[in-house]
Amino acid sequence: MTSIAIIGAGPAGLLAADFLADVKGARITVFDVGKQPMERHCPVSDKFHYCVKCKPACNIMCGIGGAGMYSSGILNMHPKIGGDLIELAGSEDRALDLVLAVEEFFMRFDGGIKLYNPDPAQARELKRLSSAAGIDFIPIRQRLMGSDHTPRIIDQVYHDQMKRGVEFKTNQLVKIINQDKSLETEQGERFGPFDFLIAAPGRFGMIWLSGQAERLGIGSTYESIDIGARVEVKAEIMEEICNIQRDPKFHIFTKTHDDQVRTFCTNHEGFVVLEAYHDGTIGVNGVSFVDKKSQNTNFALLNRINLTAPLEDSTKFGKAIADVATLLGGGKPIVQRLRDLRRGARSTLKRLKKSNVVPTISYDAITPGDISLAYPHRIMMNLVEGLEQLDKVIPGVASDSTLLYAPEVKYSAKRIYTNAQLETIIPGFFVAGDGAGLTRGIVAAGVTGLIAARAIKDRIDP
Ligand SMILES: Cc1cc2nc3c(=O)[nH]c(=O)nc-3n(C[C@H](O)[C@H](O)[C@H](O)COP(=O)(O)OP(=O)(O)OC[C@H]3O[C@@H](n4cnc5c(N)ncnc54)[C@H](O)[C@@H]3O)c2cc1C
Repeated sequence: MTSIAIIGAGPAGLLAADFLADVKGARITVFDVGKQPMERHCPVSDKFHYCVKCKPACNIMCGIGGAGMYSSGILNMHPKIGGDLIELAGSEDRALDLVLAVEEFFMRFDGGIKLYNPDPAQARELKRLSSAAGIDFIPIRQRLMGSDHTPRIIDQVYHDQMKRGVEFKTNQLVKIINQDKSLETEQGERFGPFDFLIAAPGRFGMIWLSGQAERLGIGSTYESIDIGARVEVKAEIMEEICNIQRDPKFHIFTKTHDDQVRTFCTNHEGFVVLEAYHDGTIGVNGVSFVDKKSQNTNFALLNRINLTAPLEDSTKFGKAIADVATLLGGGKPIVQRLRDLRRGARSTLKRLKKSNVVPTISYDAITPGDISLAYPHRIMMNLVEGLEQLDKVIPGVASDSTLLYAPEVKYSAKRIYTNAQLETIIPGFFVAGDGAGLTRGIVAAGVTGLIAARAIKDRIDP
């Protein structure tokens, strides 16, 4: 028998386990600090808040299904979204083949996952309109599982893999990875050594993984960070665009700084939700459901920031900004009307209530305030200019009533150095997914799980 350990049961870990479960002679053990899918209840998240504080591990970020389980479950079938899959896979054809394999994986468990395939003529026209405004529109085939259906799909994946012999060790925080690929858990148990190891601990485990890599002499480098705001508008403003593409991707170069801002994670008729981290920092995110709809649409408008010496640690930078925003918001996200932001005034509850956009998050969960007090001027200018450019393609998106919520920070992991098979300098030790700094999305994470798993299969059964 060949023993294989997988750390993390997110999309990266589950896709790897699924592929390896069919390899003769492979014995697979998946470790996850969280719980089984149907045990992952979070009293806070049930009220549309994302709680990242639950002990011992957060039910939103941790457990079988990973951070993808309570997400909107938008599957972006594009080799440049969620990571550079062409670079990771080695060629465009191979990347597309892997993207298709991830799509087929999810479809095996629910053939009805809704497809959003942009009509070519409409996509072409939108691309033309966007180009005229200096914006790049990226047409993508997408599927929406929906935050309400994703847990059921993941539960089916879990039971299917158990039936096929995969062993799941839930509530097990792996604390130490040893050179011989044995693992030590927080509970003091030792497992292995294993013949192969795939570490796929997601954003929850990214700092831990880079620490383990450093201890084991595996190099890594800092990745860029995305800092921005969650934008909320009336759903009718986005209706036409979201009918062409469910989660439209616009890349904008701003007038003053020539920086890239981009739209991300659009939730048509969705809800703004709260993210609360262990250290007290607050953030915002968005979700959408298949069966439950709001009157609004939200999306993230993000600035990509690359840092060089003397501060390369982009996480530290993002955290410092999020801390100031949390401080100013009194422990709650700041919400501001675009009209107030443009006039240099803070929003108040009274001003907020003049907006025709009624927040989808309850008033007691947010603080009307001034985001420009917390964010660097350059980021603020990029956000306002980005929205104004986007208004030429989506009229009304930069109206006075538009709401902005902050902080929204997409922390990046340090990218762990690997070869093309995603194997580190320790033979048989592979990494995959968001936690290794390779990806930022469900499909992309799944693709990296498959790359590692295929390489392992080739070693077991050349
Ligand atoms: C609110 C929200 C909405 C999102 N919406 C979308 C979307 O619509 N579409 C999209 O493509 N992406 C979305 N994403 C991002 C997506 O969920 C992630 O990119 C994806 O889940 C990453 O997969 P992964 O397997 O790398 O890691 P994860 O899914 O994060 O899984 C990692 C797993 O590892 C476990 N783990 C970590 N450290 C340890 C350890 N030391 N020991 C044991 N276990 C450990 C964790 O418990 C976790 O279960 C969203 C994310 C969030 C938070």
